[in-house]
Amino acid sequence: CGIVGYIGHREAYPLIIKGLKRLEYRGYDSAGIVLYDGSDLKLSKTKGKVSDLEAKADVENTKNGNIGMGHTRWATHGVPNDVNSHPHYSNSGNLVIIHNGIIENYEPIKKELINRGYTFKSDTDTEVLINLIEDVKKKENVGLGKAVQIALNQVVGAYAIAVFDKEKPNEIIVARLGSPLAIGIGEDEFFIASDASPFIEYTSNAIYLEDEEMAIVRLHKPMKVRKIKDDTLVDPYVQELQMNLEQ
Ligand code: GLU
Repeated sequence: CGIVGYIGHREAYPLIIKGLKRLEYRGYDSAGIVLYDGSDLKLSKTKGKVSDLEAKADVENTKNGNIGMGHTRWATHGVPNDVNSHPHYSNSGNLVIIHNGIIENYEPIKKELINRGYTFKSDTDTEVLINLIEDVKKKENVGLGKAVQIALNQVVGAYAIAVFDKEKPNEIIVARLGSPLAIGIGEDEFFIASDASPFIEYTSNAIYLEDEEMAIVRLHKPMKVRKIKDDTLVDPYVQELQMNLEQ
């Protein structure tokens, strides 16, 4: 039920873990993290607490990288266990997703994907969405942002998502409908989170995505926010955050 992401020059792991802990109040049953270390994706996930995730990441050595995404899950589809925890890979292993919310029409989409040769490790609706995105990307021969947009127009439900492609490691795609998502804007770095608490000490500038909006968060580029439905560009309102010194 929480999302934290980072792309920039800092060590992403400690920042994401600290952020996930600040989102613990939202409630969750599992936690996971994926880091991009400059050449590959490193992923750890587990049923339990963020502290359990830290213990696992220590053992699995999945703590290096300046790009990453972390998740706390409140299970809706598939029991709370390690496999159903997020992040989830696509079949190629190139794409990875974290998701809060529910994809209501995941069953017919899953059937269709299975017919076309896709396999699934988990019982989640989320793993269906990341493979739908991968399928669209291949079929339509489009970039990740476009593939996410087309896929989201085929799903019914609620979501805050962050999607990363290791073949294009300078960007994270985020989108929301019904679940909150904030983007912190730093200098040559971006923070993604369910609320601003994970990044309040790093930047005072944030954008809160509105429902049915998506953003391509790309290093060294101004952020583009679009309407998922009709692709119109939105001029995002950058809020000035006030740091609560008591926290
Ligand atoms: N529906 C997804 C799942 O069950 C995401 C749940 C959540 O919001 O954490 O895995």
